[in-house]
Amino acid sequence: MKNIIPALQFSEDALIPIISAKTISYHYGKHTKAYFDNLNKLLENSPFKGKELEEIIVNSKGAIFNNASQAWNHIFYFEQFAGERNSKLGGTIKLAIERDFGSEIGFKERFVMEGINIFGSGWVWLSCDVEGNLEIDKCQNADNPILFRRIPLLCFDVWEHAYYLDYQNQRTEHLSALWTILNWDIIEKRYKNRTLFLDKCL
Ligand code: MN
Repeated sequence: MKNIIPALQFSEDALIPIISAKTISYHYGKHTKAYFDNLNKLLENSPFKGKELEEIIVNSKGAIFNNASQAWNHIFYFEQFAGERNSKLGGTIKLAIERDFGSEIGFKERFVMEGINIFGSGWVWLSCDVEGNLEIDKCQNADNPILFRRIPLLCFDVWEHAYYLDYQNQRTEHLSALWTILNWDIIEKRYKNRTLFLDKCL
């Protein structure tokens, strides 16, 4: 049983001008696909063969962890840009953001700042616990809040491959622009389903 990269849920030019078709074609078609291909090769002679990605992430180390986690992180990342553009923050996630970060603007500023402060490659995450308390997590390389049993809600990729073709070294400009293509309905859905999530990560 292989881990198959799912089809991208939008066309490669759907996120222009925030993310170019060329970036999507490399980021999804080459980088993300390579994590899946490498993982499948590594799993051939491994006790993790046939396990769910979440279970592999929590229990593996080294190359298997890196490729499993990067495969999962990228699917999660691209999914949040599917559907509606310029969506409005609303619902229960809006209330939680205002409670835990003061305001929507305050949250966005802090999230981008934490992303800028990651040295080298990694991911900035919004995560929650089962009670719904929010936190921003700065993660290096392939790391992800599942590792410390928090529930991922939203992530921005700060690896240079995510933005270099379009923004060169300007990580701040890239991260700040991503809000306009984020579909908050998907984040709200993840937040509402949080209690089911950790069951997958045993
Ligand atoms: Mn990436």
